[in-house]
Amino acid sequence: MIAHSPTIFASVAWVAFIMAFCLLVVGRFDQRDGLSTVGAGLLAYALTYACFMQHGNAPLWLTYSLANTLLSLALAFYSASLFRINQRPVPWRLIICGPISMGLLMALLLETREPRMLAACAVLIAQCLLIIWWARANRIPGGRAHLLVMIGAGVSVFGILIRVVAILSGMAEEMRYDVSNLRQTISLSIGTVTVMMITLGLVLMSKERIEGILKHMALHDPLTELPNRRAIMEQLEREIERARRNRSMLAVAIIDIDYFKKINDTHGHLAGDAVLQHCARLMKARLRHSDSLGRYGGEEFLLLLPDTSTEGATIALDDLRSHIASSPTLFEGQPINQSFSVGVFCGIPGSQDTGTSLLGRADAALYLAKQSGRNLLRLAETWVP
Ligand code: GH3
Ligand code: MG
Ligand code: MG
Repeated sequence: MIAHSPTIFASVAWVAFIMAFCLLVVGRFDQRDGLSTVGAGLLAYALTYACFMQHGNAPLWLTYSLANTLLSLALAFYSASLFRINQRPVPWRLIICGPISMGLLMALLLETREPRMLAACAVLIAQCLLIIWWARANRIPGGRAHLLVMIGAGVSVFGILIRVVAILSGMAEEMRYDVSNLRQTISLSIGTVTVMMITLGLVLMSKERIEGILKHMALHDPLTELPNRRAIMEQLEREIERARRNRSMLAVAIIDIDYFKKINDTHGHLAGDAVLQHCARLMKARLRHSDSLGRYGGEEFLLLLPDTSTEGATIALDDLRSHIASSPTLFEGQPINQSFSVGVFCGIPGSQDTGTSLLGRADAALYLAKQSGRNLLRLAETWVP
């Protein structure tokens, strides 16, 4: 099917205008999500197609030079969006090279035909390749929306290459924007599809990023940046299930800072917060990759050591305990001593064991450690049925 080229330009310009309007209205109020830059890209794209639509009826500087510079500007805004969505600094100097070189080349080569067309294609291809590269570099961890951007830019390169081949084969006349033929229809449709894919990909990347932030907030403690109670309890259930299935040992330790109320009362709440952060940092630095540490409550931490024997858990926790007791927190230049007591369950979870039951046993051991004077480790009794 051969579509009427100016009609394709008009309909795409109209759709892009509406999408740009929607994104700019939404993005205006929250510059951090990058939507306003995507909207600016779409607006430039809509103007590009509005100029292309006039090809043959208006001066060439408008329908070719300005149009391609606007197209290059649209790609520049898309590139910038990839960084803004991730809240990274935008390399504007590099990004703006695209539209500037396009503008200069189009001004210089306006009176030529093939060189002008090939130069425009070369700049656009370079920009699309940069978008592919930056989309990969700025992908959201665990997300897939960047793939849409990469595919969109990749297909765009393919569409532009169709033009390059046609121009090099002496068919430049066939690729005029006011000419309608099959090759032109395919090339323009590809361009249209790809801009939609890139736009959608960018909007979805923004959504993925916000979801990532919300998920992090839902599962992490803001003070220590450790997994919060919900997250560490879910991890506990997973570890119990795994240890039961593999018949492997699991150590569950409740760590409670000694006399923490006194630290708060003596040095203030901010000092207490600093102690919590300091302890979390020290413990995290000394744990294995497979261990999990979370903030269970106010000054209580839950530590899970999978595949760990009673001896191994005792050595690891005693090492943590003595390290924390000998590393005071520096708060406003003043050292604050702290220590913790710890109750540990260590064993292979039975069929009746749940997170709550194992925690109950570790907590009973913690109570004994406190009763025995603090800065101590006590093992929960394990019994063989
Ligand atoms: P013990 O040795 O028996 O564990 O005594 P403790 O003082 O550590 O325990 P207690 O339960 O009496 O006090 C815990 C205190 O921790 C009470 C609470 O105000 C404080 N707390 C809880 N969460 C935070 C927090 O996020 N920051 C600060 N600074 N204090 C907190
Ligand atoms: Mg406590
Ligand atoms: Mg305490």
